Amino acid sequence: MSYQYQHDVLIIGSGASGLSLALELAESGSIRIAVLSKAAISEGATFYAQGGISAVLDTQDSIESHVQDTLQVGAGLCDPEIVKFVVENGKESIRWLIDIGVNFTRSTNPDGYEYHLHQEGGHSHRRIIHSADSTGKAIESTLESRVRNHANIDLYECHTSVDLITGNKLGIPGNRCLGAYVYDQQSGSVKVFSAKTTVLATGGAGKVYLYTSNPDICTGDGIAMAWRAGCRIANMEFIQFHPTCLYHPEAKSFLISEALRGEGARLLRPDGTTFMQRYDAREELAPRDVVARAIDHEMKRLGADCMFLDISHRSSDFIIEHFPAIYARCLQHGFDITKEPVPVVPAAHYTCGGVMIDRYGRTDLPGLYAIGEVTCSGLHGANRMASNSLLECVVFAHSAYKDIKKSLSTITAPPELPAWDETMVTDSDEDVVVAHNWDEIRRFMWDYVGIVRSNKRLKRAQNRIRLLQGEIHEYYSHFRLTNDLIELRNIAVVASLIIDCALMRTESRGLHYSLDYPMQGVTDTAKNSVLQSFPVDNSPARAARQQP
Ligand SMILES: Cc1cc2nc3c(=O)[nH]c(=O)nc-3n(C[C@H](O)[C@H](O)[C@H](O)COP(=O)(O)OP(=O)(O)OC[C@H]3O[C@@H](n4cnc5c(N)ncnc54)[C@H](O)[C@@H]3O)c2cc1C
Repeated sequence: MSYQYQHDVLIIGSGASGLSLALELAESGSIRIAVLSKAAISEGATFYAQGGISAVLDTQDSIESHVQDTLQVGAGLCDPEIVKFVVENGKESIRWLIDIGVNFTRSTNPDGYEYHLHQEGGHSHRRIIHSADSTGKAIESTLESRVRNHANIDLYECHTSVDLITGNKLGIPGNRCLGAYVYDQQSGSVKVFSAKTTVLATGGAGKVYLYTSNPDICTGDGIAMAWRAGCRIANMEFIQFHPTCLYHPEAKSFLISEALRGEGARLLRPDGTTFMQRYDAREELAPRDVVARAIDHEMKRLGADCMFLDISHRSSDFIIEHFPAIYARCLQHGFDITKEPVPVVPAAHYTCGGVMIDRYGRTDLPGLYAIGEVTCSGLHGANRMASNSLLECVVFAHSAYKDIKKSLSTITAPPELPAWDETMVTDSDEDVVVAHNWDEIRRFMWDYVGIVRSNKRLKRAQNRIRLLQGEIHEYYSHFRLTNDLIELRNIAVVASLIIDCALMRTESRGLHYSLDYPMQGVTDTAKNSVLQSFPVDNSPARAARQQP
């Protein structure tokens, strides 16, 4: 049986970004595409997105207004050119999604735009097109149905990319990305995927934190792989904590969309009093970081386990029509949102930083693109505005598609690549180390590198992660791969990148709040936190195993 797979384009990730790109490439001619997903194809952040996608669709709205709102939320670190580029491409991206069959909720207002638009925190207009409160599911399942049996696309589910294969690692002149080593979870073997062009569409890294709204696949693998391949990583300190996840032991961080606050839901203390007016003039419609910090502060001040969100003053019909999934899920856990407030806590939600890319999704490494949440594109800056992320996925998938299509014919296929070397490893007899280190990282990231930070806590976290990375590297070098081990190695890298970026920032800005520098940094002097790795040139043997 052959363990070498050859394609024109290897797409690692099957969320909104990966599948949009796969579909566009596949429809454009005879390009052979491989799409990898770590679990079932639909399992990723995209599937769980509730609120919707932002775009300028209403005649009352304007490109300028969407750009300004994004820049303001981004706290001085957005790239204005990229913001303009994404916003200007919004309408066309939504049109593309409608054309492929995404079923957005229609407007019942005869004078309005034909689709219903929500308003969310930070947006000064209604511009969030949605499919009730399950927008991500509508997008992901439409894309999945289009790519699943496409003749040009090979789908590999339960295949975890371990590391990128680069010319440098193999000692081949003219460094570029040549593909990836991929762990097949079913057979336990590592396959070689070679491709003219490789694309990281691996999503974010919420699982680095103990409490997260993200699904299990969000372990920042693409960021860690790109880092090990020598790409620059930026702005990792900007982790967005969603203010309102359902607080219930069995809810596994189920998200209560901020569209509820957009429709008038109020945040309450356990005694039923409101508190957002103490923190921001926009009250419940303040950006997420402001709301998350306010909830965190009230919880710590009162020693409370949670705060409450109340939309019960709206009519039952309205609530059930607009938020059917949230209504049903809360009911399942014993809360009827049409009648009572629901308990909520903040949780790690969105990774604003990531692999640095240009407007075509090109990374520092020739032959490697990155799109979607894995990237730092310049759109979000120090804080992501709600519903801009799905838009980013579709816009960058489209621009990467154009660039890849143009360049593909000029690239020669990689030579035969060395197989993964397992001659020096054995089966582990200490799996407990992996489970323990997983828990330890997630807990200290929550405690020391969470919503409110300090130099002392960050230093403590840095010491811990350095020790653990040494231990994990030792383990990784001696034992056969498992999915948990691959992910553990990656969350350790991502945790260290978050800590290093946070320590570089001697100010509070956007999502990064430090007790040592409580004043918000001045916009004019805003700088990205950019980290550069220096990968070692390796011989082919065990090439992908040399770096922690
Ligand atoms: C609960 C929730 C609600 C949200 N609501 C909204 C919203 O309303 N609007 C909005 O704009 N944004 C929202 N977001 C954010 C948005 O959903 C994500 O930013 C976006 O879906 C990311 O898409 P993606 O394609 O980059 O990654 P994902 O959809 O996360 O997909 C990542 C893919 O990469 C694969 N993968 C990862 N690592 C590997 C590996 N090593 N090998 C192989 N495959 C790998 C995974 O299997 C998966 O297929 C929400 C996020 C969450 C978690």
